[in-house]
Amino acid sequence: MLVNAYGAHAGNQPLQPLRITRRAPGAHDVQIDIAFCGICHSDLHQVRSEWEGTQYPCVPGHEIVGRVTAVGAHVATFKPGDLVGIGCIVDSCKHCADCDEGLENYCDGMIGTYNFPTADAPGWTQGGYSQAIVVHERYVLRIRHPEAQLAAVAPLLCAGITTYSPLRHWQAGPGKKVGVVGIGGLGHMGIKLAHAMGAHVVAFTTSPSKREAALQLGADEVVVSRNPEEMAAHLKSFDFILNTVAAPHDLDAFMVLLKRDGAMTLVGAPATPHDAPNVFNLIMKRRTLAGSMIGGIPQTQEMLDFCAEHGIVADIELIQAGEINEAYERMLRGEVKYRFVIDNASLGSTGASTPVS
Ligand code: NAP
Ligand code: ZN
Repeated sequence: MLVNAYGAHAGNQPLQPLRITRRAPGAHDVQIDIAFCGICHSDLHQVRSEWEGTQYPCVPGHEIVGRVTAVGAHVATFKPGDLVGIGCIVDSCKHCADCDEGLENYCDGMIGTYNFPTADAPGWTQGGYSQAIVVHERYVLRIRHPEAQLAAVAPLLCAGITTYSPLRHWQAGPGKKVGVVGIGGLGHMGIKLAHAMGAHVVAFTTSPSKREAALQLGADEVVVSRNPEEMAAHLKSFDFILNTVAAPHDLDAFMVLLKRDGAMTLVGAPATPHDAPNVFNLIMKRRTLAGSMIGGIPQTQEMLDFCAEHGIVADIELIQAGEINEAYERMLRGEVKYRFVIDNASLGSTGASTPVS
C-alpha cells in the first residue's frame, strides 16, 4: 500500500511530502490509519542526523495514535475500529531475557519505529508522519481515553512512557521529593506524572516565563536553574531527579541537589556529550547517575491506563503537516507548550509525489 508521508531526503534539507509503502498485514499484524502523531525532539535529532547513521529518506514519528483498519488472521486482541497507539518500538527478538520480562526497549534486537532495519521497503522503518502503519500486534497499545482526547494522548506514547518508566523505577511517590529538569515535551509529562504519583515535585527550568505554567502542570515548586540562589536552597534534598534536557549542560549543578543515596536519571539525548560530573559529587553521598530509555510494552500499556484513570494527557499544539519544519524551529527555541502534534488528516492534501521504493 502506498501512503502519503512527510520526511527528509537529507539531514540538511527540510521535510517535504513523499510517498512510502506499507506491507500488507501478515497473520500477526495490525494495520492502523494514523489520526495524529506527536513531534518528539528525537525526531529532530534523527532527521538531521545529529546522532549519525540516519537513512534517507527519513520519515520520523513515534507518538502515533489512530484506528485499526485491518488485522491478520491470528490477531485476537484487536479488531477494526479499535483506538490504538504505537510508540517507539515496532519489533524485537521476542525471545531474549529482556523481551521475556516485557523490557523490549532493552532487547538488542529492538526495532525502533523509524530508522531501524526491516525487511519492508525501503529497508529501514518509517515512522508516524504518514497516513498508515502496519505493526505486529505485540507492539500495539490500547487507548482507553475518550476519543475527543486522542490528539493529546499521542505524546504519551514517547514523552509519557519515557518519564513514567524512570519515575516508577526510582519509586516516585508520597514522601519523595522529585525534581524534573527541562519543561519541554518530556518534562511537562514528567511533572504531571510525578504529581499524580503523589511525589513533591520541583520543576527546574531555564525559562523564567514557564514558572506559572509549571505550577499549573502540577509542580509544587519551580526553580530557575540559572539562578544560583534558587538552586542553593535545594542542596542535598532530592530523592530523585529526572533530567530531560536535550542539550549538554552542567550535571554537577543537579548532582549536588541529591541527598544521600539520591539518584538522577538522564533521559535527554544531546547530540554532543555532557562533561562527566565531578566524582566527589557522586562518592561523598553515595549518589547515582543513571539513564533510561523509553519503556517496555507492558509498562507502556500500564502508563496509558494510569493516564486514562487520572485524566492525564499532554498539553499540545495541533499543526498541519505543512507546518512541521516551522514546528522544529519553534521547538528548538522552546516556543511550544509543550508538544506539537500533527493532524495526519492533513497529509491527504500535501500533494505527495515521490515514491520511495
Ligand atoms: P523539548 O521539548 O525540546 O524539551 C527539552 C527542554 O530542555 C526544553 O524545553 C528546555 O526546557 C530544556 N533545554 C533545552 N535546551 C537547553 C539548554 N541548552 N540548557 C538547559 N535546558 C535546555 O525536547 P523533548 O522532546 O522533551 O526531548 C528531550 C530530550 O529527550 C531529547 O534529547 C530527546 O531526544 C530525548 N529523548 C529521550 C528518550 C529516551 O528514551 N531516553 C525518549 C524521548 C526523547 P526549559 O525551557 O524548561 O529549560
Ligand atoms: Zn520520542
